[in-house]
Amino acid sequence: MARERDSVVSVIVQKFGGTSVANAEKIRHAAMRAVEAKRRGFDVVVVVSARGHKTDELIELAHGITKNPRPREMDMLLSTGEQESVALMAMAVHELGEDAISLTGAQIGVLTDTTHTRARIVSISTERMKELLAAGNIVIAAGFQGVDSAMNITTLGRGGSDTTATALAAVLNAELCEIYTDVEGVFTTDPRVVASARKVERISYDEMLELASLGAGVMHSRSIEFAKKFSVPLRVRPSYSDGPGTLIAPETDEANSIVTGVAFVRNEALITLVGLPDQPGVMSSLFTALSGAKIPVDMVVQNVGREGFANVSFTVAEDELPAAMRVVSAAAETLKVQSVQQTTELSKVSIVGHGMQTHTGVAARMFQILADSGINIRVVTTSEIKISVLIDRTRCSDAVEAVHNGFGLNQPTRTLPDIGRSAVRIGSSRSVDAEVVADIVSRLEGMESILVSDVSADTQQSRITVTGLPDDPGVARDVFAAVGEGGVLVDMIIQNVARDGKASISFTVPGEDLERSLQLLRPFSDAHKETLVTSDRHICKLTIAGIGLRSHTDVGRRVFRTLATHHINVQMLNTSEIKLSIVIAAVEAERALKILRSEFGLP
Ligand code: ADP
Ligand code: ASP
Ligand code: MG
Repeated sequence: MARERDSVVSVIVQKFGGTSVANAEKIRHAAMRAVEAKRRGFDVVVVVSARGHKTDELIELAHGITKNPRPREMDMLLSTGEQESVALMAMAVHELGEDAISLTGAQIGVLTDTTHTRARIVSISTERMKELLAAGNIVIAAGFQGVDSAMNITTLGRGGSDTTATALAAVLNAELCEIYTDVEGVFTTDPRVVASARKVERISYDEMLELASLGAGVMHSRSIEFAKKFSVPLRVRPSYSDGPGTLIAPETDEANSIVTGVAFVRNEALITLVGLPDQPGVMSSLFTALSGAKIPVDMVVQNVGREGFANVSFTVAEDELPAAMRVVSAAAETLKVQSVQQTTELSKVSIVGHGMQTHTGVAARMFQILADSGINIRVVTTSEIKISVLIDRTRCSDAVEAVHNGFGLNQPTRTLPDIGRSAVRIGSSRSVDAEVVADIVSRLEGMESILVSDVSADTQQSRITVTGLPDDPGVARDVFAAVGEGGVLVDMIIQNVARDGKASISFTVPGEDLERSLQLLRPFSDAHKETLVTSDRHICKLTIAGIGLRSHTDVGRRVFRTLATHHINVQMLNTSEIKLSIVIAAVEAERALKILRSEFGLP
């Protein structure tokens, strides 16, 4: 029975994770929250995950039958976890005296591409949900699932219910999207690993995007892409108490610290291609092959070429290693690579924070902290707001804790201003510049298509490369301590895998600081006779900015293909979720800018 509705009612989306709906008691508790919001005047959409460890159990069940379940059947199986939860949640709401209707992904109209087990959302129809809400129902939506255009059930990848929630919040223009989980909010690092981790009051979309994509499992990184793209305020809250949680929202001018959080991925594997011909098109073929197999590559490091050959290394999640090696081995043959090597038992530790853009010496400090703990750094990559290092897995927890406490994240910070908390306004919707959103969305092929928002070129930077470094703890620290002493703002840092016991580090500095930086390095190179310092004043740093650039393998592929087609060689490369930075020769700057802007449809 439809109720009288006087004005536009604000929509709130509440998502409950697995532990928050693990048993009848918890489901009842979650239902109570939804009913409360409804009685405060919101239209309520609830997104639920599978109960407890249901998804893990289903995966185990499948593996008890076959080592290689077909992805389509895997999705058919895994989607049942969420289907069970929505029905139970609807019943719990009924018991509390409100109307509720449960819907599967297909019933909502979550249309995805056909990539089973990690599908991406193409579109969501709002009609049925809006009708049900208008008729007074709480809508209970199954997270994590959708259907492709042939009505095959698909899933969005582990942790994907967060993405369903923010996507629904986006299309329904929700006032707020609340993510209820088993911790107080977003912490400075995983509280299960570092006991002194502290809850963050507020964090920017970009910082959360980087943290999530660098391993902070509290949010599915793709959910933050939606939130940022469609300006959805997100609040991560505990389901077991009334804690205010953490607000994820646009960046404010007030940064509370230089580093906001530390993330890590325990199981990383490194693949190195030795002796790649150093010419345009090589990176393109490699990344086209990996992108074709939908393998997200990470920490891509390319050495400055020597004698016509370069070495390229990149990491993949360890469970993607066999698939990645198949692709790389095939590509290596075509590219006439000297050899392909793989290293396992590695972990990636990253620090994230906006403050890095303006503070010098952040990298030096991180390297110092690791050196003090005797932890050897194998690979380094950086971007504007993150620094990642690859280290031995046995030292992962030590490194996370040392870096976390070393940057003072275990110390209380001042409380930051808060917005959007438990909004109860009725008749007002989230204010978004409709034109901006329309413009963004019109450039997307589907809701989850990547979005390159800008391509820029900076020819004011210079490159410095130090080769022949001993592969010991403290080497990176010494290099950056030397440069940092002169207050030089070091940008893109790349340290490649050591070969024959020797490592190399490249980084960029402002052109006007090049001579001074080289002088600052002199005592270091005098003390290490085997090292060689080279530099190049005539480089251009291209920056491709956007959302989801690392996890959407296609962006890298398109960038490399475009540059290769125009015979522009890539000298250095850094990737992050919000930026892709590439060093090319300065003479190519204008041409590169033009072709890349045109490739991504930018004016
Ligand atoms: P849900 O089932 O509710 O989706 P998840 O297990 O996916 O919950 O996410 C919550 C978990 O994320 C926490 O229990 C915590 O151990 C882990 N986690 C990792 N990094 C962080 C972080 N930076 N802040 C908070 N929690 C984190
Ligand atoms: N149930 C799915 C998983 O365990 C989705 C989710 O929880 O977000 O990965
Ligand atoms: Mg989760």
